[in-house]
Amino acid sequence: MAEQSSNVIKFLFGMGVTVTINQTLAADTAEYLVKEFGHNPIREEKAEEIINKIKASRAENLKNRPPIVTVMGHVDHGKTSVLDVLRSANVVSGEFGGITQHIGAYQIDSQSNKLTFIDTPGHAAFTEMRSRGSKLTDIVVLVVAADDGVKPQTVESIKHARAANVPIVVAINKCDLPEADPQKVKNQLLEHELIAEDLSGDTLMVEISAKTKLNLDKLVEAIILQAEILDLKTDFQSKATGIVLESKIDVGRGPVATIIVTAGTLKKGDFFVSGLRWGKVRAIINDKGQNVDEALPSTPVEILGINGAAKAGDDFIVLDNEKEAKILSQNRAQENKESKNPLTFATQDSAFSDKSAEELNLIIKSDVHGSSEAIKNAISQIKHAEVKPKIILSDIGMVTETDVTLAKASNAVLIAFNVKPSKEAKKLAEMEKIKISSYNIIYEVLDYIKSKMSGLLTPDIQENVTGTAQILEIFKVSGAGKVAGSKVTEGEISSNSELRIIRDGNIIFTGKVGTLFREKNQVKQVSNGQECGITIKDYVDFQKNDTLEAFNVTSKERSI
Ligand code: GDP
Repeated sequence: MAEQSSNVIKFLFGMGVTVTINQTLAADTAEYLVKEFGHNPIREEKAEEIINKIKASRAENLKNRPPIVTVMGHVDHGKTSVLDVLRSANVVSGEFGGITQHIGAYQIDSQSNKLTFIDTPGHAAFTEMRSRGSKLTDIVVLVVAADDGVKPQTVESIKHARAANVPIVVAINKCDLPEADPQKVKNQLLEHELIAEDLSGDTLMVEISAKTKLNLDKLVEAIILQAEILDLKTDFQSKATGIVLESKIDVGRGPVATIIVTAGTLKKGDFFVSGLRWGKVRAIINDKGQNVDEALPSTPVEILGINGAAKAGDDFIVLDNEKEAKILSQNRAQENKESKNPLTFATQDSAFSDKSAEELNLIIKSDVHGSSEAIKNAISQIKHAEVKPKIILSDIGMVTETDVTLAKASNAVLIAFNVKPSKEAKKLAEMEKIKISSYNIIYEVLDYIKSKMSGLLTPDIQENVTGTAQILEIFKVSGAGKVAGSKVTEGEISSNSELRIIRDGNIIFTGKVGTLFREKNQVKQVSNGQECGITIKDYVDFQKNDTLEAFNVTSKERSI
């Protein structure tokens, strides 16, 4: 407004609002104040509304984008070797030759196809990303050593990929070893419902050796085939959106974020928000360490020009100009402070986000196969139109750390039936504030699930009007600010009422009573026929002849 802050503070003080320069005003108070200073306020849209609009405008120019691949599997089965050999094969044959830059992900070219690999193998990073609401993997390559077979982390990887609904391509590695037995691996994988094509299933499995480079081209072909099935299309021409993969503060270069572009084309000079940060793209550096001018969808790049460290899993959205970027990041910071909700879930690109919230995700660990089956059957009988239970994992054995991480990532209820959590799982659950619910009677499990499902139902809200009043005149009271001198015309108004201001039949504002006065004394209640003074919380723009309607709201929880 180009007004001195001291004048603003003084004016607010006159209205009975005591603030310092660092505080934020409620929107209605701010609007009133701006008008009182002779300006014309225009309300900003919420940050997320603007961002959703940007994303929704993206239905044209759809083209296939490269798949984003994460490599998972048991320790020592060759994940890192596979990633390294794919990368180096590509660098040697690639036009740039020479140095590779580790920026958290890399892209390879295979004939006319590009593929993007996340450089951190294993499910920890994958799950961490997912627990922040980001899905940055289209395909999981499951590496299983042909001499060692399916091991606990192989199984965990399968579970993680399944929970995230990501298809699996199996790389049976170390086939150069004499003791390699790929067929045995395939048979073991059958138990986990991964059925190879030669066993008339639809899981692509390739027998490879990272050491001798056997069949690496076949592995790449299988990934490309899987990507074709997924039909990964996105807009290439619009402004870019992306997801932050890594971030660091570099001594020479300042804050550096590795992002993967998820849609549109990122260009040097673009203004953007990322989580609560914003910036201007000063430089784009690709996985070969080269400065480039733009980055297309699924490309991993390092970005310079962000105004602080971003967080892995944060979104990245290019906007029209600096002003928009600044305001949006400020709004987000403010909304984040107000809601205390993590930003992530609401802000994902729809193509990369998880499913809707009306499912109750369940992880059930039980002692024996029989009870596991019985519980699964009983749960499948629970039917409701608005919420449904979804078992994302039902397994035998103690509750492990993986179960806890999975529960966190999938926002799932974790049930232990006749089993105990391991010491590590218990510790992790405490740290992550994940509840492990232990039961030994099936119908108690069902009651608990039903109560959790009930919690997802929106409560029945009922509103009862308790009284109305008419504003006769407006006056100021020192210490209370602007007061509506009113007469109660029906029922009663109490100091803890919710209140609606009605002008010419329209609801102007809904809020709460601030203070209620009779004469000069604060009172708790004013009845029909009596005159009183009323202040309204966070609102001062009431006028003579406005009607005040007091009401209370009762909400009744529903149950299943
Ligand atoms: P990670 O823990 O899954 O990342 O496994 P690494 O890539 O670190 O590999 C573990 C060990 O297996 C290393 O000693 C590798 O040299 C070895 N290795 C990886 N791939 C192959 C392969 O195809 N054949 C043989 N013989 N050894 C391999």
